[in-house]
Amino acid sequence: MNAKAGRYAPSPSGDLHFGNLRTAVLAWLFARLSGRRFYLRVEDIDSQRSSRTSAERQIEDLQALGIDFDGEVIYQSERLGRYEEVLGELEERGLIYECYCTRRDIQVAASAAHARPGIYPGTCRDLNPAERERKRAETAAAGRVPSLRLRTDTASFTVHDYFAGEYASDVDDFIIRRGGNIGQAGDFAYNFVVVIDDGDCGIDQITRGDDLLDSSGRQAYLADLLGFQVPSYVHVPLVLGPEGKRLAKRDGAVTLREMSAQPGGRGGVVKRLCASLGYPETATLQELLEVFDPTEMPREPVVFDDAFDQEPR
Ligand code: GLU
Repeated sequence: MNAKAGRYAPSPSGDLHFGNLRTAVLAWLFARLSGRRFYLRVEDIDSQRSSRTSAERQIEDLQALGIDFDGEVIYQSERLGRYEEVLGELEERGLIYECYCTRRDIQVAASAAHARPGIYPGTCRDLNPAERERKRAETAAAGRVPSLRLRTDTASFTVHDYFAGEYASDVDDFIIRRGGNIGQAGDFAYNFVVVIDDGDCGIDQITRGDDLLDSSGRQAYLADLLGFQVPSYVHVPLVLGPEGKRLAKRDGAVTLREMSAQPGGRGGVVKRLCASLGYPETATLQELLEVFDPTEMPREPVVFDDAFDQEPR
């Protein structure tokens, strides 16, 4: 539908930290450098952990850095009707089945000798009608509704990633809608909604943290199944905290607001972002857009503390 586009899609569960901001800058750079539109999508599908205030603060912070977006901000929480509709289409195509497994059932199955780690073993995929009836009744008696899974027909799907190249990752019968307590519809799963959101906006370039590289196969498979263009990916290395683990809020002053309170202010944060991408002399994102060369970008994870100057030059 729309022209080519990229996006940044934060989950609004707190202020963005330096690592999130760096990924956002990269998503914006990759999109703008290739003449794409750039959208912001608030991933607030997880009703327990998301807040509108947090989303608003994240948007303010991204704009304060100099990142600009096209169109309206998209909120997943406003798109539930659309997700229902696509679920209905998949149901009509016979591609959805109920899964009665508890977390414990899946753990037990995963410990079997031939199990592949992290892969749903297909326990509920081919139940006969009588077994299905029995399990459905047991689940209802426990006050639960079953989850819904996608009936897939491949074990792996290959995507193109700017850094990882042709990258094959696992596909299994992943969850489309979570189970829940009777009377409460379960949340739609991230792997489902993200594909519909990207497809509906014509997103053909996805830049995000490389912790999500392994979900790209499932998502691209579903995009293809739904008739969307399979996007190309740019999975960028994460920023690490001082202990070598993924940067987290407990690692100190890491959000834009916390860092802006330090000497150097917000301009200092922008300089650190530019420096972390290999441009220590660059002071604004507009300037960065003019000089940034993705082929020169550091491919190894950046460590928050010492990989770049603390002091603005
Ligand atoms: N909402 C996810 C996050 O904040 C990103 C999802 C995506 O970019 O596909 O980690």
